[in-house]
This record gives sequence, C-alpha cells and structure tokens, in this order.
Amino acid sequence: MDSQQTRPFRIVIAGAGLVGLTAAHILHHAHIDFVILEKRGDPAPKVGSVMTIWPQTSRIFQQLRLSEVLDPLMESLRTSMVISGDDSHTIDVSDFPSVLEKHHGWGLRILLRTQLVEALYTMLPEEAKSKVLLGKQVDSVYMDEFGVQVTCQDGHTEKGAILIGADGVRSRTRLCMEALRQHKSPHDLDERYQSPYRSTYRVLVSQVEPLPDAPSHIKCDGVNYGAATQYLHGKKVSCFAIYEKLAKPSSKHHRYTDDDKREMLKRWSHLMVMPNYPVQDLKLTGGNIGLYDCEEGFISDWYHGRIVLVGDAVRKLDPRTGMGYNEGVIDLVVLINGIRGTSGVLSPRKVGPTIASLGKTFQDYEKTRTKHVSTVMGISKTFARASAWLSWKDMVMARYLQPYLRLTDLCVAFILDPMIRASPLLNGTREIGQIGD
Ligand SMILES: Cc1cc2nc3c(=O)[nH]c(=O)nc-3n(C[C@H](O)[C@H](O)[C@H](O)COP(=O)(O)OP(=O)(O)OC[C@H]3O[C@@H](n4cnc5c(N)ncnc54)[C@H](O)[C@@H]3O)c2cc1C
Repeated sequence: MDSQQTRPFRIVIAGAGLVGLTAAHILHHAHIDFVILEKRGDPAPKVGSVMTIWPQTSRIFQQLRLSEVLDPLMESLRTSMVISGDDSHTIDVSDFPSVLEKHHGWGLRILLRTQLVEALYTMLPEEAKSKVLLGKQVDSVYMDEFGVQVTCQDGHTEKGAILIGADGVRSRTRLCMEALRQHKSPHDLDERYQSPYRSTYRVLVSQVEPLPDAPSHIKCDGVNYGAATQYLHGKKVSCFAIYEKLAKPSSKHHRYTDDDKREMLKRWSHLMVMPNYPVQDLKLTGGNIGLYDCEEGFISDWYHGRIVLVGDAVRKLDPRTGMGYNEGVIDLVVLINGIRGTSGVLSPRKVGPTIASLGKTFQDYEKTRTKHVSTVMGISKTFARASAWLSWKDMVMARYLQPYLRLTDLCVAFILDPMIRASPLLNGTREIGQIGD
C-alpha cells in the first residue's frame, strides 16, 4: 500500500451495532472520514428489549445533538427495589436513580433497543449514512506501515489509515488482529482468542404489558438461589428478564431455540417479579423473546499496529447493570479524542499518522480504559451474583449486608457518582455543541 492511499485520514470500522453507529455520529461531527462494514443487511433489526442509558452517555448524546430525538423516547427510573424471588418480601429500596438525576441532570433512563438503533441510524446525515455499507462481512485484514486493507467475504475491500473493531462479542477484527500479532492464521489461534469471555448465567428477556397497580419509573430485582428476575418499568415501556445460572460456566456460544425459551419460562413461572406478581402473571408483548448467554470478561490487548477494538469486542459485562453499551460509548470518546490529537490526522500534511504515533494514542486509550474496566467489571459481577446467588455468601450479601449496610447507596456515592462525574466528554465541543446549550 502506498502512503498516498492513507490520505486524507480515513477510518474503516467493522460493525454497525450500537457502538459502530455511535462512532459514525462522532466521526461525522469530528470531520473524520470513515466507512463502516456491517455484515447484516438491515441497519436496524427488530431485536432486543430495553436499554438503560446512564448519565455519562446522555451527556455525549447531548454533545452530538441526538437528545432532541432520543429524550422523548426515554423514560427515567426513580426507584430501585430488591425483593425476594420466593415470596416477594421487600429486601431493599433505594432512590439512587433519582439521586443520580439530581447530581448529573440525568439519572438512569430506559428506552426500547429497537428505538435506539433506529434513531442512531436515521439521525445520521445522508452523507454519513452512505458510509454505512450493509451486507459486508469483514473476513480478513492486511496491514502495513501506511495503512490497512480490509476484505469482506464477498470480496469487497476498503482501505484506511486504521481499523476500529466494533464487531461485538465474536469479533472477527479481534481474531485478525491477534493473528497478525502472532503471525498465524485466525484459524490457528488457540481457544482463548476464539472465545475470550465466559458465561456463568443465561438471560431470557421480553417486553411485557405494564403490571396493573405496579408503580411506574421502577427497577425491581427478584433475587434467589441460582435464578433471578428483573422488571423495568417507565410508564410506556416495560420489560422483564429472568437470569439463570448455567449448569457449568462456559466459553462456548449457544444458540437457543423457541423450546428452550418456553421451558425456561415454565421453569421459573413461580418466581416473583414485583410484590404479588409471579412470572406466570406477566403478559409478554413485542413478539420477540430473547435468550442469550451472559458473557463476561475483557481482553488484555486492545490494539496492535493500526487496529484497535471498542465495545463488546474488547469487554463484555453482565447485562443486569445495563452498562455494556454505555461503556462502549466512553471507549469511543477516549479513543476518538486521542485520534484527533494524533499528529498527522487532522493536519493537511501528505503523510498520515505513523504506526509509532498511533501506537502512543492507542496505548493511552488502552491504559485509560483498562484502569476503569476492572472497577466496572467488579460492580457488574458483584451485582449479578447478589441477584442470582451462586453460594450462601452471595445470599448473605443480598439479603443482609446490602440492605443493612446500604451498600447500593454507598456504591453509588463513592464509586458510581465520582465515576460519572469524571467521565470524559468529546473534545472540540465548540464545533459539536456546548453542554447545556
Ligand atoms: C439482554 C441484554 C440487555 C442489555 N442491556 C443493556 C443496557 O440496558 N444498557 C447497556 O449499556 N448495555 C446493555 N447490554 C449490552 C449491550 O447490548 C452491548 O454492550 C452493546 O450492544 C455492544 O455494542 P457493540 O456495537 O460493541 O456490539 P454489537 O451490538 O454486538 O454490534 C456488533 C455489530 O457488528 C456486526 N458484525 C459482527 N461481525 C462482523 C463482521 N465480521 N463484519 C461486519 N460486521 C460484523 C454485527 O452484525 C453487529 O451489528 C445488554 C445486553 C444484553 C444481551
């Protein structure tokens, strides 16, 4: 590849999931050229139930001027409740979502995943939308000192200065990157590169009709040994989930059938989702029940040469805390702020950024994000295990320590609140839009 091909600076992105589409907005506003290769044919598939959006992401939405469309779709949570999954007696009640709202202007807000994906896609200006190429499954990557060349399964190729892997849990970019580092073919990498995450639970999710008489703006966790429920209700949007411990933690990817879903619903029909309401009383709506393994973990090498990873490609969190996408957005903020500051990216010079200057940017990105990832991982794991208990210690934590020591409120005050406050904004806010304007 000759050096001319990397000018002007251009980014190739693998994957137009939630993180890839958010990257399109950020790069468009930052005037950085890009192309996204997405294997699906549909930019906004009708799958998934409800997403929780944390305040740090709401701030980025405001910077990107996405709030005017997203705000009316989102509903705030105010109360978080923990009940016994057996008999629905109340174990703990916290108003931490309202506290977050008071401190940060936004608390925890929920919206349908389909609405979020659709809004992210349709709100892209036409020029940016034309850079999202559908039906393009990334297959292989060639990299040299001047740039990357990405080849899809249908033979289509794209060139750029760097490749960002936003292609999710089973990231092909991650495999190609590791293969280049180890001078091997992706097929010859050992198992830990093929499946770096591990599942301890599976989750069944569905939209539901709001429960009559149940309060609105509430999140309720029904906790128990080996299985737990979660009910999220705004005013218009309600969804529920059942989390179930797997027979054995596994790194294998399972595809579940409709029979698996029916059996799981039957198995836990007696578990309580809200005081006086067991699973069997719920009316499932939306025609779309999901059943997935809850992979957890993160990888240690986030970049190699001109390839860098973001979102679920680099870190997977249990869904119960609703942080996965939110963390992916902050990956992008840190990474793209760094890229904008890298010599040779925004300047009109002929020679693009060198591997050495990109290496420094990617190293800073990895360092910043890995420092943070263990804290987030710790919160997510603890919360998951305090909900569907794996041992008597988890039971003691959920039933006694958490409510009596007010551990949820302490975690919010001493970990989450400062973390949200310190969460980065996109640089160049004058071009993108001032906070609060
Ligand atoms: C039940 C459940 C509930 C959740 N709730 C929340 C929540 O409330 N809040 C929250 O923040 N997070 C939540 N998450 C996590 C969140 O969904 C993920 O963290 C987020 O979707 C990650 O986005 P991503 O773009 O990195 O990956 P993905 O959304 O998986 O997108 C990856 C994209 O890459 C594409 N792709 C894959 N391979 C290739 C290839 N070879 N070539 C081209 N394209 C490719 C895929 O088709 C896909 O479009 C939840 C997850 C689950 C399972």
